[in-house]
Amino acid sequence: MTLLVVATGNPGKLQEMQEYLVGLDWELTLKPDDLEIEETGDTFMANACLKASQVAMATGKWAIADDSGLSVDALNGSPGIYSARYGKTDAERIERLLFELGNELNREAQFVCAVALARPDGSIALQTEGICFGEILRAPRGTGGFGYDPIFYVPEMRLTFAEMKPELKRSLSHRGQAFQALLPQLKNLLNVE
Ligand code: IMP
Repeated sequence: MTLLVVATGNPGKLQEMQEYLVGLDWELTLKPDDLEIEETGDTFMANACLKASQVAMATGKWAIADDSGLSVDALNGSPGIYSARYGKTDAERIERLLFELGNELNREAQFVCAVALARPDGSIALQTEGICFGEILRAPRGTGGFGYDPIFYVPEMRLTFAEMKPELKRSLSHRGQAFQALLPQLKNLLNVE
């Protein structure tokens, strides 16, 4: 079984990737704790590639990374790649976003997730992206999920991400879509490389 290093120190993210990549003949493991990678890219994909590449080169193993965030149309794509750094806590990040958006009528937004897989030499073997379109509510709704979930409303479902059952969010979220696109390509790659 090929070892695949997940470019995160977060065991929750490892678990989540294991769920997305179920049935795959790769064993997933966390990156070494002391290996810090700065996200200096200016797009989600650039950051995912940077993380996968650097972890692969440092460990000499295959590595996978994702980078995600929320882009709000009326804020010219903000918070975007700065989604995690937009405030100190989830509550503060939501409060700031609602404040910046104010009474703006255009509430359209997208969650974006980029995933990159790097070979042991750091070269990128695969990259996929998933996008989930929605609207920013004026006040939070729901208690599930994390991050901006309570203010991200998906009109087709008439629910915010925080009101969805985890399976529903997984199937239509940006991350779900990026991994759904990646899975068959990953399986294919195993037969080729
Ligand atoms: P990262 O990809 O782990 O760096 O996450 C970026 C940030 O985007 C997170 O800290 C959240 O604030 C936000 N984010 C990404 N995906 C989601 C999601 O599915 N729900 C809510 N917030 C998210």
